[in-house]
Amino acid sequence: MTAELLQGCSTCTACALAYTRQMVVIARGNPNAELMLIGEAPGAREDATGLPFVGRSGQALDRLLSDVGFDLERDLYVCNAVKCRPPNNRRPKRAELAACRPWLDRQLELVDPDVIVLAGATAVEAILGIKGGMSQLRGRWQHWNQRAVMPVFHPSYLLRNPSDAPGAPLDLTRGDLSAVRRRLCER
Ligand code: SF4
Repeated sequence: MTAELLQGCSTCTACALAYTRQMVVIARGNPNAELMLIGEAPGAREDATGLPFVGRSGQALDRLLSDVGFDLERDLYVCNAVKCRPPNNRRPKRAELAACRPWLDRQLELVDPDVIVLAGATAVEAILGIKGGMSQLRGRWQHWNQRAVMPVFHPSYLLRNPSDAPGAPLDLTRGDLSAVRRRLCER
């Protein structure tokens, strides 16, 4: 993460979320990774620690990523479409997504990933401009700015659907992340 991104983002007041956040949540992982994972927005634990995907959802995601062979520190860069926590974990508003987009664009420019994973419908809408149910969108490769993009269920949805049965959301997501891993390995 560059000092410019860290400094600019940490002091940003471009939308109303600046006035309810505790910490700006920018990223974790490797800024030189070939894979970038983008989620929706920070939750309570992320707001308290300043790190994305570190609460229960994040831990569930980490387990799945590890299951399919990713090294969490080396192989990916993790961030959110919106860097400050929306009150009561509501979905970010369109204006908040728009206000925060320059920071996401800067991260995409700096990391320059070959493959992007979009976790949940908000991230899919933010990057691909597609609205829809994740059951239809997940698991299908998309393309954005010459990059391969894989939409997956948001890990908070997986926490609400904990069955590990074949064909259940957890199993499908493990398959989607395996496809991402294969794609990166084949390059
Ligand atoms: S959510 Fe984004 S645009 Fe809004 S204050 Fe935080 S960093 Fe700035």
